[in-house]
Amino acid sequence: MSAPLIDPFARAIEYLRVSVTDRCDFRCVYCMSENMTFLPKKELLTLEELDRLCSAFIRLGVKKLRITGGEPLVRREIMTFFNSMSRHLDSGALDELTITTNGSQLARFADDLYAAGVRRINVSLDTLDEQKFADVTRWGRLPQVLKGIDAAQKAGLRVKINTVALKGFNEDELFTLTDWCAERDMDLTFIEVMPMGDIGNEDRIGQYWSLKDVRAQLAERSELTDLAERTGGPARYIRMEETGQKIGFITPLSHNFCESCNRVRVTCTGEIYTCLGQEGHSDLRAPLRSSESDMVLEDAIRAAIALKPKGHDFDYSRQRVDGQVSRHMSHTGG
Ligand code: SAM
Ligand code: SF4
Repeated sequence: MSAPLIDPFARAIEYLRVSVTDRCDFRCVYCMSENMTFLPKKELLTLEELDRLCSAFIRLGVKKLRITGGEPLVRREIMTFFNSMSRHLDSGALDELTITTNGSQLARFADDLYAAGVRRINVSLDTLDEQKFADVTRWGRLPQVLKGIDAAQKAGLRVKINTVALKGFNEDELFTLTDWCAERDMDLTFIEVMPMGDIGNEDRIGQYWSLKDVRAQLAERSELTDLAERTGGPARYIRMEETGQKIGFITPLSHNFCESCNRVRVTCTGEIYTCLGQEGHSDLRAPLRSSESDMVLEDAIRAAIALKPKGHDFDYSRQRVDGQVSRHMSHTGG
C-alpha cells in the first residue's frame, strides 16, 4: 500500500466525506436561502469519477467514507455508486461506508443501503413538531421523514439523529427529542449552528444556542457522565444516567475540536476542502481527468493534505459573526 496520508500537524487522514450533489429537496433556514442557484449538471463529477476518486483515497488509507450533500439520496442513480463502493468493504480496505441524509428518500432506499453494506446512518432532524419542521426545512414534510426512519430501522440500519440546536426554535423540545431517541434506541447528537454561506435574511447570531446551555439543561434532569470515547471526530459524548442513553455534542463555537481532526471533504465538483471552516481548497477534478492512471490524482491528493490548516476561526464571542466562510454547508457536505 502507498504511504498513509499525514498532514503537517501529524494528523492521519482516515476519514473522507464526499458531497455527491449540491441539490436538495429541502431548504433548511440555517443551511440554504430559499432561492439557491445550483451548479449545472456538467460541472459535477460523474458517478464513475466519484468512484475513482474515493477509491484513490481508500488506497491512500481512508478507512471511513461518508456520503453527503446537498441531499445525497436525490442524486440520480446514487445506488449504483453505493453498490460499487461496497467492494471496498468486502476487501476489508474500508471499515465503514455511511451516509448523512435528511431522511426524505429513506423509505425508498433503506433496504438498498443495507444491501450495499451500510450499517449506520445519520439522519438530520431538528424538531418533532410537524409545523415547525415545515418552517425550518421550508419544503420538508415530517411524516415522510419519520416513515424513512422507520424503514431504516426495519432494514437493520442503526440510526443516529443529528439535531442543530437553534435558539428559540427547538429549546423547548430538548427532552421530547432525547426521550424519543431513547425510546427508539437511536443515538442523538446536537450540533451548534455554524456561519456558513449566505442564508438570506436569517439571523446567524439569533440562531445560535450554545451546547454548554443544552448540557446544563440536561444536567438538571439527569446525572451526566462524560465518556472518554472519541471517534476521531468533533463529537464529545455524555451518558444520561437516567436513561443510559449516549448524547453527542458538536461544538465548533464553544469548544474548538480541531486538534484531533482526521477528515477531509470533497465536493461534488471534485474540490477538496481540508478544513470545513476555511476557504482554502484544491482542485482534484483536473488531475482526475488529466490521465487514466491515478498517479497524478494521488499526487494532487497528497499536495492538498500537505496544506491542511490547523483549524477553523469561527467565533461569535464578540457578538458578531467572525470567521464566516462564504460557501454553504451543502457545498462541502456537513
Ligand atoms: N441533506 C443532508 C442532511 O441534511 O442530513 C446532508 C447534508 S447537510 C448539509 C449535513 C448536516 O449539516 C445536517 O445535519 C445539517 O443540519 C447540518 N448543517 C447545515 N448547515 C449548517 C450550519 N450552518 N451549521 C451547522 N450545521 C449545519
Ligand atoms: Fe438540505 Fe441538508 Fe441543507 Fe437541509 S441541511 S437544506 S436537508 S442539505
